[in-house]
Amino acid sequence: TQFTSPPLDELLLENIKLSRFTKPTPVQKYSVPIVSNHRDLMACAQTGSGKTGGFLFPVLSECFQTGPAPIEVESETVFRKHRAYPTILVMAPTRELVSQIYDEAKKFAYRSWMRPCVVYGGANIRDQMEDLILGCDLLVATPGRLSDLLERGKISLAKIKYLILDEADRMLDMGFEPQIRHIVQGCDMPSVNERHTLMFSATFPRDIQLLAKDFLKDYIFLSV
Ligand code: AMP
Repeated sequence: TQFTSPPLDELLLENIKLSRFTKPTPVQKYSVPIVSNHRDLMACAQTGSGKTGGFLFPVLSECFQTGPAPIEVESETVFRKHRAYPTILVMAPTRELVSQIYDEAKKFAYRSWMRPCVVYGGANIRDQMEDLILGCDLLVATPGRLSDLLERGKISLAKIKYLILDEADRMLDMGFEPQIRHIVQGCDMPSVNERHTLMFSATFPRDIQLLAKDFLKDYIFLSV
C-alpha cells in the first residue's frame, strides 16, 4: 500500500487494507508524519476529507506498538472493574459523528489489544456503563454524555495519552464549550505536556484559535 511512510504498525496496515483504503487522502498524508513525530496538531479539514483516518492511523499505530499500560497496584485492579481508563479520547459533537468514528475505530483496531467504546446522549446510560466496564481503551464521546459519566465516576481520564477534538467548531456552535473546557482542563486529564492533543475543525475562527492556544502545545497548523 501507499500508507508506508512513515511506517505504520503491521497489524494496522492489514486492517487498513481490509477497509480497502489503498491511497492516503491529503489530510492522512500530512497528519501521519506530524503526529508520529509527537507534535500537537490543529487541522482545518472538511467532513469527507478522511480526517478520521488522519487521527486514528498515527495514534493507533503508536498504541499498537506500545501495548497496554501495566496495571500497577492491586487496588487499581479492583477499581478497573468499575471504571473505564481509556488511553485515547475522541470528542465529537453528535451521535451520528461519534458512531461513524466508532465504526472506523472498530475496523482499524480489529485483532489489536485495544477495545473501542462509544457514548452519546439520548441513549440508555446503563447500557453504556455496562459496555465501558468490559474494557475501554479508545473512547469516542459527545461532551454532554461524557461529562455525565465522569461525574458518576464511571470513567477516569487519568491514563489519557491522546486527546482528539473532532469538528471543534460545530461543538462550540452547539454550546459545548463549558463542558469541553471542564473535561480538558479538569484535574483528571493529564496536562498539555503529558498528552498529545489533536484538534480538527472545518473553520478557524477566534474562539477555535483560543481553544487551540489553551489545549495544544507548540502545535503545527495544517490546512487541507
Ligand atoms: P471522513 O472524512 O474521515 O469522515 O471520511 C470520509 C469517507 O471516506 C469515509 O467513508 C471513509 O471511510 C472514507 N475514506 C477515508 N480515507 C480513505 C482512504 N484513504 N481511501 C478510501 N476511502 C477513505
